[in-house]
Amino acid sequence: MTSEVLLLVGPPGAGKGTQAEKLARARRLTKLSTGDMLRDHVRRETELGLAARQVMEAGQLVSDDLIVAMVRNELGGNATVRVLLDGFPRTAVQAEALDALLQELGTAITAVVLLEVDADELVARLLGRAAEQDRTDDNEATIRTRMQVYTEQTAPLLEYYEARGKLRRVAGTGSAEEVFARISEVLP
Ligand code: AMP
Repeated sequence: MTSEVLLLVGPPGAGKGTQAEKLARARRLTKLSTGDMLRDHVRRETELGLAARQVMEAGQLVSDDLIVAMVRNELGGNATVRVLLDGFPRTAVQAEALDALLQELGTAITAVVLLEVDADELVARLLGRAAEQDRTDDNEATIRTRMQVYTEQTAPLLEYYEARGKLRRVAGTGSAEEVFARISEVLP
């Protein structure tokens, strides 16, 4: 099997989780969601979970060192890397660490899919999700912080990937099936 590394990027509420599930299944990739991994650590009250909890509840980013170590653990040891990364990288340091790690593993990013949704719709979606799921970081103040963190720390990565010819922009509006069809069209 050939290696494949897809990244799913977008502001909070863009639908990354839903599309990550679908893409991973359709392309037989292992889904790695740093948010899910962190929530699992918090639930199990591991050392990492205890360190990350307050930061997550405040809508801020967990330290690059912890995140990169966590991803390295998951990626290392695979003969062929076939992954879909959801919610990682979120900073320039993480993006550079990922490139270095993939190079060590003899592979590289296949494509970066950016889900684009406008700000008003994002807030409405996140508040809806807060009502449905038990996510303690989906209240209005935290949502605003997470948006700001995205704009300041994650959005600059888009240029990094655009400059390398990896970025694919996809409209994240409409049904999950419509979005999935758009993503499939832009991937090799
Ligand atoms: P998510 O489920 O991807 O929205 O992540 C939920 C929260 O986990 C974020 O608001 C951050 O606090 C933390 N988190 C997830 N992924 C990362 C990452 N790559 N870098 C730093 N913090 C992260």
